[in-house]
Amino acid sequence: MHLIIRNVRLIDGTGRDPLLSITVVVENGVITSIGDDKPLTLNHKHYEDINGEDLTLLPGIFDAHEHFAGDGGKNGVWAMADDSREVLLAKGASNARRALMTGQTSARDVGSPHGVSITLAQQVASGSIPGPRITAAGSWIQAPTTWPYPFVTMIENKEEMRNVINLQIEQGAGLIKVGATGTYEDGSDYATLGPEIATMVVEMAHSAGLKTAAHSVGVAGTKEVVRAGIDSVEHGFFIDEETSILMAKKGTVLVPTMSTWDNRLQHAVSWGLTKDEIQSSEMRKEGSIQSFKRCLASGVKVAAGTDAGGCPVRHGTLVREMEVMIEAGLTTMQAIEAATRTPAELAGTLKDVGTIEVGKLADLILVDGDPLDDIGALRNIWAVFQGGRRIR
Ligand SMILES: [Zn+2]
Repeated sequence: MHLIIRNVRLIDGTGRDPLLSITVVVENGVITSIGDDKPLTLNHKHYEDINGEDLTLLPGIFDAHEHFAGDGGKNGVWAMADDSREVLLAKGASNARRALMTGQTSARDVGSPHGVSITLAQQVASGSIPGPRITAAGSWIQAPTTWPYPFVTMIENKEEMRNVINLQIEQGAGLIKVGATGTYEDGSDYATLGPEIATMVVEMAHSAGLKTAAHSVGVAGTKEVVRAGIDSVEHGFFIDEETSILMAKKGTVLVPTMSTWDNRLQHAVSWGLTKDEIQSSEMRKEGSIQSFKRCLASGVKVAAGTDAGGCPVRHGTLVREMEVMIEAGLTTMQAIEAATRTPAELAGTLKDVGTIEVGKLADLILVDGDPLDDIGALRNIWAVFQGGRRIR
């Protein structure tokens, strides 16, 4: 796991301008030097020596919102409904491998039936399954009516919430994910947790060293969890100005998952969606883009997440999310930061990954071309390294 990449264009994930003709050295899986191209001596007889001319070196990308147990596809999240724990794990393993091969070296899994994502994350960490480094939420936790899925964990009161969170922590969860919003039949929304439970969720998770994420697709519930100190707002399709200002102040990260409606609208015709279904996706798109712009104007941090498996989006498609974020107002460099440094910060893994800096693990991708000219260059993967080991 020793490696020299010479004369490469470096985008290090910190958001600063690219560096040209840079030489990066990796020893024992760790980045040990970033500097001018000059003859370097490594204390190892065997290492890969790569001419990085015309290539760009970036941190491996990080999808902040996935559900590995689900394949995605037309049935979306429901594809997971009838699968046994064993099948869910097998699918999770194969989706993790697919994502890794596209240069995605880290991920947050924000909910899986039976909490299988925790097992999956442990198996990836142990090296028995190839995949992104996963920070896993285990089960989704909700008060009634956030999700209509039979496979989420339901709580009726504060005591039950306390018990469920303790159980998740005991099982090895890497973050706590709750549903924060519900929608009435007339389309209006409400907060599902109540301030007292929302605050308890955040306090319990933080005292265990974990971050919190909330499924937030309505104005009132989003405001409630942001006030309670939630670390990330997932989806955030309806965020008012007051909430966006508060998010900026508190450092709450928005994970806008714009791929959810983008993917659905792309397939609208081939799937034969009804007029009403298309209209409802268009409404989400409109709300999502407006909320996103509001958050950008307020200075909210954003992290890229596809919701792969939790909707029809497939795993390993983070570049499309970055494209949609750019269309909605991010600069290309901001989109890269949103898919590298910011999700690592959100997951609590920034000390190890997320940027290319001396002392960090060598989770790297080499792509042909310059992603700053065209973010689609991130699909031209030539090499993927994880902890300095060449994966592709
Ligand atoms: Zn999701």
